[in-house]
Amino acid sequence: MWGKALLALAGASVLGGCAGAVNQLPHLDASNINLAQTEVASAGGPPLRHTVSDDEVLAVFRSATARIKPAATQVCIEMGVGVCAWRFVAQRDHSLNASAGLNGVVIINRGIAEYADNEEQVAMVIAHEIGHQSANHVVTGQRNQAIGALIGGVLLGAAGALASYRSPYSADITRSAVQSGSNIGGAIGRISFSKEQEREADYLSALILHRSHMDLDKARGFLVTMARASNHRETGMLDTHPAGPERLAAWDKAVAEIRASNGALPKRSN
Ligand SMILES: [Zn+2]
Repeated sequence: MWGKALLALAGASVLGGCAGAVNQLPHLDASNINLAQTEVASAGGPPLRHTVSDDEVLAVFRSATARIKPAATQVCIEMGVGVCAWRFVAQRDHSLNASAGLNGVVIINRGIAEYADNEEQVAMVIAHEIGHQSANHVVTGQRNQAIGALIGGVLLGAAGALASYRSPYSADITRSAVQSGSNIGGAIGRISFSKEQEREADYLSALILHRSHMDLDKARGFLVTMARASNHRETGMLDTHPAGPERLAAWDKAVAEIRASNGALPKRSN
């Protein structure tokens, strides 16, 4: 009886998103979101998937990672709260998604390379997951020990199987990792970050790209692509990532702030 009650309560706190952002994020108002909604609506229907070979997928993942890694590492060190040793895994999954797991695992689906128009867009996604790691979202999102242990067990099992492919610090992604067909993303997909944490990961992604001297406007196009791919306008409680227009509006606010501060970290939340 006790155990059951505790589990339900703890589960509610995880899904309720009580874990917030480490840093203060720009305020969004309705007009920002309306503008983004109009932009997404006029951008057309579902985005097109490009045909890319395994070699091309790995090449763009490697190249994008190499370009952002120095700045990403610096941002992570400045944050001082997260996991800064990352293990990159390319997953043979056509869906437009990526995830961050325990122990610095960053998983990027093949679908990201298939829908991206340029390397900046791939870099934005990788930097977003690095943002979750740098702000320690994976751990704070897992405060619930019961659920944490459950997901952690699944994840460690999958990560263990991938041990020979991953290479901390080297940003190396091997062909074998793509071909492993591992279900690791399925396990990680159940980790639910709060909306604030998602916004923070996007903010840190923009910051990392800015410091990497990458074109933020080119990267931004991927948020439009993702918004076109999703049918809903508002963020649902159980979505793994926020819905498009809101995310796009928040990105623009973040980029304006980052440019104005010349790439400084925002103030802490508390
Ligand atoms: Zn995220």
